Amino acid sequence: MRAVFLDRDGTVTKKTSLVVKPEEIELEDGAAEGIKMLNKSGVKVIVVTNQPQVARGLISEDGVKKINDKVQKDLMKRGAHIDDFYFCPHHPEQYSDVPEHAKKYRVECSCRKPNPGMILEAAKKYNVDLTGSFTVGDRTVDILAGKNAGTRTILVKTGVAGKDKKHDIKADYECDTLLNAATLIRNLIKTKAIILAGGKGERLLPLTKDLPKPMIPINGKPVLEYHINLLKKYGVNEIVICGSYLVDKIKAYFGDGRKFRVHIDYPGEKEPLGTGGAIKNAAQYLVNAENIIVLNGDVITNMNIGSLLRFHFSHSGIATVVLRKTDHPIDSDIIKINEKNEVTKYIGRGQDIHKTANVGIMVLRTKILDRIPNGISNIEKDVLFKLLNKEKIYGYLSDAYIKDIGTPERLKKVRREFPLIS
Ligand SMILES: [Mg+2]
Ligand SMILES: [Zn+2]
Repeated sequence: MRAVFLDRDGTVTKKTSLVVKPEEIELEDGAAEGIKMLNKSGVKVIVVTNQPQVARGLISEDGVKKINDKVQKDLMKRGAHIDDFYFCPHHPEQYSDVPEHAKKYRVECSCRKPNPGMILEAAKKYNVDLTGSFTVGDRTVDILAGKNAGTRTILVKTGVAGKDKKHDIKADYECDTLLNAATLIRNLIKTKAIILAGGKGERLLPLTKDLPKPMIPINGKPVLEYHINLLKKYGVNEIVICGSYLVDKIKAYFGDGRKFRVHIDYPGEKEPLGTGGAIKNAAQYLVNAENIIVLNGDVITNMNIGSLLRFHFSHSGIATVVLRKTDHPIDSDIIKINEKNEVTKYIGRGQDIHKTANVGIMVLRTKILDRIPNGISNIEKDVLFKLLNKEKIYGYLSDAYIKDIGTPERLKKVRREFPLIS
């Protein structure tokens, strides 16, 4: 079960702190629509809120519950609901002027954010997969709590909009409103990943005699593990690894993904099907997905795939291909784009006029599966670029570190450079 953990004040509702009366509750713009969308997406929506005014003696625990009831009532009027509310009534500091009845709340606790206590307790109750879940809030304390609990994090620009600067932490994503955050979460839930791990790596022999190329270690970890960590970081945790050559070595290391807190499927190919064929062959594992992010197993990168995914979600193309400026067009796949980032021409190798090159990372809408022929094919040459007259394909320019390890020289370079930047 996935969950979305929402801060209350400044995220779901307008007043950012010290709420003591139900009449003070006013929903943030778009909050009801956003929560309704999350309700429909099949995730648990759980409020986790610090209410230190209880420890100040300004309100009782019952009073907090009444305010939460008002939030729920207002949301329900608009077709949305919160599945559960958790609040921390504590505050660790001692003041001399705290009323007698509130003194018991002046304690160090494990529930006050940025501690993950409330999130962990809810996760236990609802059997939540934290890696596949999100924490959304308007303060750095929310982001840190979400991170401490092992969830993805989204800072919203309502409430204090992260300007509290209390903790030096960056959220995985930033969104203007809760509605935008909910839309992003919905899209991420509908995104699966394919890692293309085929290819014999003949240019890397003898290294690849017993090891598939994506299992080659960089700084002690296989290339594939970097891919999995990157996908996980941005909220994509359902992964399909396609390959035939020595794929058992990959399975032996990653298994069903549980150890890495993701879910991994292996469609298996009796013979190498090419990149297009491999994607088509994985179709049975992509049911319910709307988007597929495809990573090449012999490319290593630290790129912000969150930005790539958001670009793709906000453009209606059948595909978004990642491009980078290249100074060696002779051995690159050159692709031309216009000023609107639409791919206008696939040029291929050996040309030196348009210097944006394909890097082997793309996001596809799943409807493309119907356009891929059975059998062997190349996803770019045989599928995508044959659709250029009928469908929009976008190019996403990235200047991140994206390098392939296809030859001994390139592998050596990556082994030298990548540990320094990752
Ligand atoms: Mg807040
Ligand atoms: Zn507490």
